[in-house]
Amino acid sequence: MTIETIGIIGAGQMGNGIAHVCSLAKLDVIMVDNNPAQLNKALETIRANMNRQVKRGLITQADEDAAIKRIKTSQSLKDLSPSDFVIEAATEKEEIKKEIMRAVCPHLKAETLLASNTSSISITRLAAATDRPQKFIGMHFMNPVPLMKLVELIRGLATDDDTFTQIRDLAEKLGKTTATSEDFPAFIVNRILLPMINEAVYTLYEGVGNVDAIDTAMRLGANHPMGPLELADFIGLDVCLAVMQVLYEGLADSKYRPCPLLVKYVEAGWYGKKAGRGFYDYSGETPVPTR
Ligand code: NAD
Repeated sequence: MTIETIGIIGAGQMGNGIAHVCSLAKLDVIMVDNNPAQLNKALETIRANMNRQVKRGLITQADEDAAIKRIKTSQSLKDLSPSDFVIEAATEKEEIKKEIMRAVCPHLKAETLLASNTSSISITRLAAATDRPQKFIGMHFMNPVPLMKLVELIRGLATDDDTFTQIRDLAEKLGKTTATSEDFPAFIVNRILLPMINEAVYTLYEGVGNVDAIDTAMRLGANHPMGPLELADFIGLDVCLAVMQVLYEGLADSKYRPCPLLVKYVEAGWYGKKAGRGFYDYSGETPVPTR
């Protein structure tokens, strides 16, 4: 089977990025979100990001126009029925993802492959909520999808060789490089990255440094392109907390305990850049540290 039509569930930061790269790679895209405002926002973001690529000479205006035309949006999972491959990029909550899997499967062709873009949740468990665990895989894009080269591939216990090969080939067609991880909590990238971010929040919580000092220290002292708190805001503090909870529960080790300050920020709805406030305030021209 060749993958020509891709369904995307969730039109947030990751969903719109996946739609962006797939439509430019000449795949037809059906993007579903249960929140219509998110669908409109996703299309606006894709246009704005493609316009930037046109200005930089990376793609032509004709490429952009053709790509935008390939993207259809819907609020109903039923409209995913023509898809050859469906990737779920909805909120990082196991129950939400399992419910989506149970709801979408009856609408799909028998041969349609399924993936989750989860940052941390067990692929084997999500696969078990589908009617096709052998055709289910973890396809973990990085944020922002159009810029980041890596796609982490995670095989669940039941994932068959054909599914793995087809999704690896798709990632390569999208211009990405793959790294394969076993199905352990948070896989490779987030197993290493998120405890560092959590530690940066502890460093803030304990008063070792303020937001500016912590981010400057890691940018200039460790040569990281972004400070850890800036990066946390960019990822989304809700996503960061969800990953730490999966690590803490999945590996049963206290070293993964989410920092109470991270928990408080999420409880306050201060999710980072997407909410306009996190460790920085994004209401003005330039982000301002909040502590
Ligand atoms: P987001 O909050 O920006 O978007 C999530 C979207 O899912 C929202 O638009 C929401 O309306 C939608 N949604 C929720 N429930 C739904 C349902 N039942 N049906 C349809 N749509 C639904 O989150 P995000 O940052 O795009 O993350 C999405 C997934 O990608 C998560 O699993 C996350 O862990 C993963 N991920 C995130 C990053 C990152 O840096 N943010 C990186 C890699 C992977």
